[in-house]
Amino acid sequence: MRLGIISALHEEQQGLIEAMQGPVSHSHGMREYTLGTLWEIDAVCVLSRIGKVAAAMTASILVEKYGVTHIVFTGVAGSGDPKVNVGDIVVAESLLQHDMDASPLFPRFEVPLTGLQRFGSDLVLSEALAGAAEQFLRQQAEKPADSALEIEGFGLQHARVHRGMIASGDQFISSAAHLRQLKQDLPDLLAVEMEGAAVAQVCFELGVPFTVMRTISDNANEEAAVDFMRFVQTVASRYAFGVVKNLCQRLAA
Ligand code: SAH
Repeated sequence: MRLGIISALHEEQQGLIEAMQGPVSHSHGMREYTLGTLWEIDAVCVLSRIGKVAAAMTASILVEKYGVTHIVFTGVAGSGDPKVNVGDIVVAESLLQHDMDASPLFPRFEVPLTGLQRFGSDLVLSEALAGAAEQFLRQQAEKPADSALEIEGFGLQHARVHRGMIASGDQFISSAAHLRQLKQDLPDLLAVEMEGAAVAQVCFELGVPFTVMRTISDNANEEAAVDFMRFVQTVASRYAFGVVKNLCQRLAA
């Protein structure tokens, strides 16, 4: 196994690269690919940058140039459901491009010539990731109060793991009305972000198992931009680091 670990934001990847044994960096196509060993797993870490094209390019290069056999995406997202709160983790069961619309030639949301609206994540990898996420939240809850995530004032002591549908599009969603519209069309939506479904399509087409984890940073409403920045700076990196560590240890066992 060679695991590709993609993140959208610098803050989410810093710690992982520091934890890598024997890291070697390669520059290609305006991205830095860092190869090395993470908790006994042969891994390649890279920042996708933001949006579907950026993410698709990154996933393709990981597979074709760096030979990864599995991909995991870690990032933050806006909540797409009232029961999904800031600080919760969503592990994707399926991903959809919410801004794909080639109707009337193809049904809305269907990716032309694939016959699919939704791309399923790998079951085994997602199971391991959800287990790793649950374990991380338990580890946080067991820590003394002053070192646990709740001190940041996010009230994360009740954080939960959800599994279900994540939608991606080239839009930062920061309007309750926009989200309401999406939710009407996609009632099982759990989270909105800007990369996951692009990675999903690439992995589907190349036959590479993948999964996506998103920590909820905001409610995709008018406060989203402020909440997002605060969350990314204080909490997101710790989530990504803790969950990927648990995941690698599970995969190596
Ligand atoms: N201003 C930011 C832009 C980040 S875009 C910056 O300077 O870096 C938001 C990133 O977080 C994207 O990678 C996306 O996947 C995710 N995200 C978080 N909340 C989101 C929301 N409400 N809508 C869409 N994407 C969101």
